[in-house]
Amino acid sequence: MTSTTLFYIIIAIIIIDFIVDKVLDALNAKHFNDVLPKELQDVYDDKEYKKSQTYKATNYKFGIITSTFSIALTLGFLLLDGFEFIDNVARTYSENPIVIALIFFGIIMIGSDILTTPFSYYSTFVIEEKFGFNKTSVKTFFFDKIKGWLMMSILGGGILALIIWFYQVTGAYFWLYAWGLVAFFSLFMNMFYSKLIVPLFNKQTPLESGSLRDKISEYANTVGFKLDKIFVIDGSKRSTKANAYFSGFGSEKRVTLYDTLINDLDEDEIVAVLAHEVGHYKKKHIIFNLSASILLTGLTLFILSLFISNPLLSNALGVEVPSFHIGLIAFGLLYSPISEITGLIMNIFSRKFEYQADNYAKNTYEAEPLISSLKKLSKNSLSNLTPHKTYVFMHYSHPTLLERITNLRK
Ligand SMILES: [Zn+2]
Repeated sequence: MTSTTLFYIIIAIIIIDFIVDKVLDALNAKHFNDVLPKELQDVYDDKEYKKSQTYKATNYKFGIITSTFSIALTLGFLLLDGFEFIDNVARTYSENPIVIALIFFGIIMIGSDILTTPFSYYSTFVIEEKFGFNKTSVKTFFFDKIKGWLMMSILGGGILALIIWFYQVTGAYFWLYAWGLVAFFSLFMNMFYSKLIVPLFNKQTPLESGSLRDKISEYANTVGFKLDKIFVIDGSKRSTKANAYFSGFGSEKRVTLYDTLINDLDEDEIVAVLAHEVGHYKKKHIIFNLSASILLTGLTLFILSLFISNPLLSNALGVEVPSFHIGLIAFGLLYSPISEITGLIMNIFSRKFEYQADNYAKNTYEAEPLISSLKKLSKNSLSNLTPHKTYVFMHYSHPTLLERITNLRK
């Protein structure tokens, strides 16, 4: 194979991926105005339903604009040898491969973030604002960006530097060390994300004592679950959309409730949502997901190790002097169809797990408050209640609202 062939394979992957995505979006959009199934007719009143339809259509159109911009940028960059240009810029600052790679990725990340910021700004301050979701101030928006960049350069930069160092020291075996590092990092983050990272962006306070806390403790006791770490996060600082999640394990396990969730739902409904989260824990979904992602990382790194020393990868992107970082970019582009497939398989598992967690909540608590909470949450986020089957299969990590209600009422 020549580097030119490889270059065209990369271009083809990008274009095919774009087309598949747009076809799925269009298919889904065709069903935005379907008649609602009778189980879901009480989710919205007429006015809200109209509003949800406008919201879906607005996001659909906006999605076409952003993804077209982004593919034009990527293709333009590839056709004009952008990677070679930035590699040369990075090389004027240092001869050390690690420093070159860090500068290279720094320019790429910050450059693409600056180019896409107008779109995320528009999405937050025009679209989300218009539909009443946005609570972010311009100041918070930009501070979030800066904090995100800092975090990315420290954590992402640190991990990248170590992986390249492993490659320099151990050659083809670098993948084993890189795997160990990434596995340790994911475990560590799963345990301490809420303690170390979330406070940089949000305020968390323990759920105060009162009837809600009592009801939660009462439920937790009936299923023999130690749930003393319940936190309320100020999600309302950014958006009216509500959420709840579970993190960590062992003594670090905790539940985080958005203040918006507490606002929107009754106490019974909140307990039902928590029962669903406890179900994920009890059915070992959290351990499964973590193990699966660590195994997939190992597989990806192993495949990377087979190709990374081949100069064809760098040459395909128009860079004469092969290097780890350029090889990594080419590999990432070539590997994307495979990661699409593994993502799809993970989605299938995830939807299965959602049913299991729903069933757990139904069996250990009650189905009706979970059903009404799901309806309220869908209504408050102006969710699409009539997604297309294929779109759901490809993109949804959760079954549709109709599927979940049908299962809960079984
Ligand atoms: Zn769930």
